[in-house]
Amino acid sequence: MNDSGTSVGDGDGTRAVRAGLPEPVKNEPTLPGPVFAAHFHLPGDVSGPYTYGRDENPTWNLLERAIGELEAPGQENVQTLTFASGVAATAAVLFSQVGAGDVVVLPDDGYQVLPLVRAQLEAYGIEVRTAPTGGDAQLDVLEGAKLLWLETPSNPGLDVCDIRRLTEAAHAQGALVAVDNTLATPLGQRPLELGADFAVASGTKQLTGHGDVLLGYVVGRHAGAMAAVRRWRKIVGAIPGPMEAWLAHRSIATLQLRVDRQCATALTVAEALRERPEVTGLRYPGLPDDPAHKVAAQQMRRYGSVVSFTLPTRARAERFLEALRLVDDATSFGSVRSTAERRGRWGGDPVPEGFIRFSVGAEDPEDLVADVLRALDESSE
Ligand SMILES: *Cc1c(COP(=O)(O)O)cnc(C)c1O
Repeated sequence: MNDSGTSVGDGDGTRAVRAGLPEPVKNEPTLPGPVFAAHFHLPGDVSGPYTYGRDENPTWNLLERAIGELEAPGQENVQTLTFASGVAATAAVLFSQVGAGDVVVLPDDGYQVLPLVRAQLEAYGIEVRTAPTGGDAQLDVLEGAKLLWLETPSNPGLDVCDIRRLTEAAHAQGALVAVDNTLATPLGQRPLELGADFAVASGTKQLTGHGDVLLGYVVGRHAGAMAAVRRWRKIVGAIPGPMEAWLAHRSIATLQLRVDRQCATALTVAEALRERPEVTGLRYPGLPDDPAHKVAAQQMRRYGSVVSFTLPTRARAERFLEALRLVDDATSFGSVRSTAERRGRWGGDPVPEGFIRFSVGAEDPEDLVADVLRALDESSE
């Protein structure tokens, strides 16, 4: 480590394995274990850093440092806050940055909880406008907005918008920009370097990658805005547990290994699906002929572990999922174990009945492709 606390090595794998580690202390572990404390010894006057467990915890602080080093390497004055879930992080930014009479622009094809968030914003007197992610359509409804919320690539449709272009337009009229970076992970895309004010994500997905932790985070560059986000976390109490924070930090050490493997296999799976006549609407931003590829290639370094496509009918999609042996029928994505689901079963996402969101895990690519092709064959009758 050098004086500024940033890692000497600059590669993604090096950064991931060292992210957030404290200075070595003789006879202490490399990554200190979780600190379970509701309160800390506090004789006399109230002074920091550790007083009460809803406000600060040393295990979160190390994780927050790790995430900050990945989302904004080398950037000064960037702050990171972790949350109980991705939705807690999302709500913290939206509800702390805008108030009655303000205008917020959301995507209309984003995460499935956004419509519920929208209704709550409107109940508080905030005007919400929406537009699709693709084609940078949110530009058209930006006038007078206080906050622009982007989700790119979008979940589950995998559309992409131009973060730099939208951010410049938003900043020109004084709006802040937040980017949901869940699908890309900080190794796929770094929104703050593209100009955004906040990177927000669910750490439940590929960041932690084992399907066993719920977590969220906000990384921001403005001290005042981040103070409001911190205050919101305190008011709502949407804090991560120390065990979750520690598991997340431990998992980040393998982020580059997992992301590289899963992205490479996702491309292989997408290429195999492209050859199948029953597959339509195939989307993967890493496919050179994907409609989003050109913009994605400008701003992403890796294209994610999710592939989406549509089978002819709901029944066909259900038979396909049933026939898969290496892929669990489960929601969420980014785990080392492949999962897939018929997204329409939830209601709420504007997708066809046969739409499948497929999350590619760390299995051997040949095994996974063979399983997918066999399940497509078996489900065809
Ligand atoms: C899952 C997800 C969220 C919400 O995260 P949770 O950890 O489930 O609360 C937000 N945005 C995107 C894009 C997601 O995929």
